[in-house]
Amino acid sequence: MRRKVIAGNWKMNLDHRQGETLARELLGGLNGRKPSVEIIIIPPFTTLPSVLGVVGGTIIGCGAQDLWYEDKGAFTGEISGPMLKSLGCDYVLVGHSERRHIRGEDSELLSRKLRAALRAGLIPIFCVGELLPEREKGKAETVVVEQLRQVLGGLEKEEISRVIIAYEPVWAIGTGKTATPEDASQMHGVIRNFLEELFGSPVSAAAVILYGGSVKPENASRLLAAADVDGALVGGASLQASSFLGIVFPS
Ligand code: PEP
Repeated sequence: MRRKVIAGNWKMNLDHRQGETLARELLGGLNGRKPSVEIIIIPPFTTLPSVLGVVGGTIIGCGAQDLWYEDKGAFTGEISGPMLKSLGCDYVLVGHSERRHIRGEDSELLSRKLRAALRAGLIPIFCVGELLPEREKGKAETVVVEQLRQVLGGLEKEEISRVIIAYEPVWAIGTGKTATPEDASQMHGVIRNFLEELFGSPVSAAAVILYGGSVKPENASRLLAAADVDGALVGGASLQASSFLGIVFPS
């Protein structure tokens, strides 16, 4: 039985005071209830300390949105894995489509970042997903498998077992368009087959694969019930306690 995970990516939203307020609202909203899913929130770097001050040691986990691939040194403006780990983070996004497409991050860079995360003892949430024209040309699966192969290929079994994968079709991120549960399920099956080919059945069967792309309380239950979908990476709907908790506790 795989664990289910709901992760909220706050992107470049909420300063440290607003983030602290949202973290308190989330904890308060749990109101002693024990969710059946693992909850992770992913604030901007500057908001991490105040959020960790609220959720540290609780059932709400915390992650960062990015890291650099060296542990320290002359890399002005960058933040390293050990810095995030010592702050209290347990997770880090690697390869979010906004970094691939706005910041031009390629597989070589992402591969280094993912390995740096593992080295620091962080759990990477590695994002993959196709663009709309790629889906329309019938290339979605090839694109996703290639993104996986270029970054995850060559990992040890012990390392891949610590990675969470997020399938996020780029055309569904922040657009209000969602993949159907059937489409999500199909791609998650492709990802699981890829993991089986490279790392064997136990790794593939245990892998946590999240779906991301306009997940909201209204569509979460159907997406989360789809075969091979182990949770969600949520952007917009993670910025309000009511909508994020509406995904964590579907009605
Ligand atoms: C995301 O940022 O990973 C995401 C899926 O965003 P949204 O839920 O807003 O589409």
